[in-house]
Amino acid sequence: MSNKTDHYAVIGNPIAHSKSPDIHARFAAQTQQDLDYERLLAPLDGFVATVQKFIRNGGKGLNVTVPFKLEAYALATTLSERARAAGAVNTLKFDGNTMLGDNTDGVGLVTDIVRNAGVAVANKSVLLLGAGGAARGVILPLLNEKPAKLVIANRTHSKAVDLVNRFAPHPRLEVSDFAVLDDAFDIVINATAASLASEVPPISPRVFAKHTLAYDMMYGAAPTPFMQFATQHGAIARDGLGMLVEQAAESFYLWRGVRPETAAVFAELRDQL
Ligand code: NDP
Repeated sequence: MSNKTDHYAVIGNPIAHSKSPDIHARFAAQTQQDLDYERLLAPLDGFVATVQKFIRNGGKGLNVTVPFKLEAYALATTLSERARAAGAVNTLKFDGNTMLGDNTDGVGLVTDIVRNAGVAVANKSVLLLGAGGAARGVILPLLNEKPAKLVIANRTHSKAVDLVNRFAPHPRLEVSDFAVLDDAFDIVINATAASLASEVPPISPRVFAKHTLAYDMMYGAAPTPFMQFATQHGAIARDGLGMLVEQAAESFYLWRGVRPETAAVFAELRDQL
């Protein structure tokens, strides 16, 4: 590395588990970009101070993870349209006094579904489970694909209603309730944290048909409980490792103007799980 090496990091709390440094090191090597990328642990009450110190030390950009995506949204001086729609920022780019806030989670999900899994979203019925940070980040990119309908359902129904109300009335965007879901969907996306607790959202297995893509944003060495539940009822299951790699690629592109190849990086990460 030369003294022109640009500095990037992923900021969160906790952060030791993050795979982002592995991903970005591979992207940098592949595209011959002179950068380093570290894990940055911020105190729960010290996000802004940690970011400011990182910038003073020459930092060019950050990925932002739990629990700081809303604070990053508030801190950014400029927002992309998709960050504004999400109300959350997972990527910051620093340029002089400007802090650009973007959200690449949604495009990461859509790229993994459409390009990597080969499943079109256009004209399909899509069910999105969850109304937390991950769910709100993917709604606009999913709507941009022009699904036949996008139904949001969440354990706490009022949060799904609040989330949908953030968006201007949209003919394809609907809200539902776990208890009343009874029809099969083409794509079912689990954006809840249920898998973290080895649980499955309490939904009817009738949301799955033989052709349904059941997508869990969580990933791991073994299929998640949601993926197991979906395959037991005939669906085709996929985890969120591809979303992770694709959202990282979009951040890398925002920072460096170069689009890395993701397939080999995805395969290497899968082997390491
Ligand atoms: P949040 O804490 O913001 O939201 C959690 C959501 O999960 C809420 O809607 C909550 O419902 C719901 N939930 C939690 N436990 C259960 C349960 N047992 N049954 C049903 N619903 C439940 O989390 P995030 O939105 O940030 O993350 C959600 C998931 O997405 C995580 O597993 C995370 O790892 C994953 N993720 C993956 C990414 C990737 O790149 N692959 C990127 C970002 C996130 P309620 O409102 O009722 O509490």
